[in-house]
Amino acid sequence: MTCKQLGGACDKEFHANSFEEIAEQSKKHGMEMFQKGDQAHLNAMNEMKELMKTPDGMKSWFESKRKEFDALPEINNN
Ligand SMILES: [Zn+2]
Repeated sequence: MTCKQLGGACDKEFHANSFEEIAEQSKKHGMEMFQKGDQAHLNAMNEMKELMKTPDGMKSWFESKRKEFDALPEINNN
């Protein structure tokens, strides 16, 4: 999945066998971009922060992304 698909701001691709791993990679990448002060990623992170204010918002976001991940062909999950 790409950074954008995961609520980020660029087309960087993440590959993992589980959604948890991919979420972790995306988080790390997000932190790196945050430290670089990348404006597009800062905006994306602010939107995520809004989501996190409500426990259900974050949960349903996570679930919908997990479904997207599960729907991907196996070849993309490596
Ligand atoms: Zn990115």
